[in-house]
Amino acid sequence: MRFEHETLPQRVRFASGSAAEALREEVARLGASRLMVIAAAAEAGLAERITGGLPVALIHSEVVMHVPVAVADRARAAAGAHGVDAIVSVGGGSTTGLAKAIALTSGVPIIAVPTTYAGSEATDVWGLTDGARKTTGVDRRVLPRTVVYDATLTLSLPVDLSVASGLNALAHCVDSLWAPRADPIDAALAAEGIRALAAGLPRIADDPTGLPGREETLIGAYVSAVAFASAGSGLHHKICHVLGGMGLPHAPTHAVVLPYVLALNAPAAPAAADRIARAFGSETALAGLQALRRRLDAPRALRDYGFDEAGIPAAVEAILPVVPDTNPAEVTARDLHRLLHDAWEGADPR
Ligand code: NAD
Repeated sequence: MRFEHETLPQRVRFASGSAAEALREEVARLGASRLMVIAAAAEAGLAERITGGLPVALIHSEVVMHVPVAVADRARAAAGAHGVDAIVSVGGGSTTGLAKAIALTSGVPIIAVPTTYAGSEATDVWGLTDGARKTTGVDRRVLPRTVVYDATLTLSLPVDLSVASGLNALAHCVDSLWAPRADPIDAALAAEGIRALAAGLPRIADDPTGLPGREETLIGAYVSAVAFASAGSGLHHKICHVLGGMGLPHAPTHAVVLPYVLALNAPAAPAAADRIARAFGSETALAGLQALRRRLDAPRALRDYGFDEAGIPAAVEAILPVVPDTNPAEVTARDLHRLLHDAWEGADPR
């Protein structure tokens, strides 16, 4: 056995109900005195609740999914003009993504307070979009120094968004089992992520205002993102990356596409499939995923999220050259066409 594994340096505080206190301590720890608080208008109330009393120099609310370059440039200029020395991001992956865009060019440290299960806070991956093209890269400067998880901040996330976001986290786990740098440490994290998400998400669906399901899902989201950060992007992420650039919403796209990628890869990756099945406590990996999806009434078809059937050939053309060499199954243009067509209409995965 040979592998190289890098564990990213990051502080993580789990602070259900006490993010404000944890934030105060983490800001003091960084010695920051001019904070930029980034929160979308919808999360302004949450941000206000936990940043009172902090040395805030700037509140920034222009947050757009997939971080358009113009939005990043305006945020960078605002950060520079106010001389900020740390960023506190309060929100989902789009908000964390904007903080990362600023950190990428300025090196200003980030304290991330996630309010979805996207997991961006645990990775050193940044993303920007320019027109219909999404560019991603890896840079240690964008890795938040500290993550403060407070499950009470996710109580307001509606069940459908929670489900889509949680399945995005689950996709990090599944893809981490066959991504280019996948290793046994990632596999252990991924298996625990699947277990935690499969346990937490149904609890959220049954009791959206209960804390235990939210906490378990946050833990699952974190470990899944740690696995993903180490393993890199596998076939599933390459496909969703292209679809995201075409304007599809991130979390529901991941939620829809995952069973099709699993159905394609599982026969060629029996050890990974077995691991996924065991984590679900199910006979096969796909059966476990599909049972969870049915239980959660998960997003089913890309056509429900703005994907046009006529866009399939262009998507296939963009995905084919970026299919990782390490993908367990051989992938042809025909396979991708069939996969996207099935995902477009919500057919049973083959
Ligand atoms: P998002 O951040 O766009 O949030 C989705 C919606 O949920 C928004 O309308 C937001 O206002 C709302 N919301 C967020 N928290 C809420 C709460 N607690 N209560 C009520 N509403 C709330 O979506 P996302 O799925 O979290 O993130 C998607 C973005 O993150 C994409 O751009 C994706 O590329 C990026 N991402 C990056 C990485 C990485 O490693 N770089 C990993 C995962 C996702």
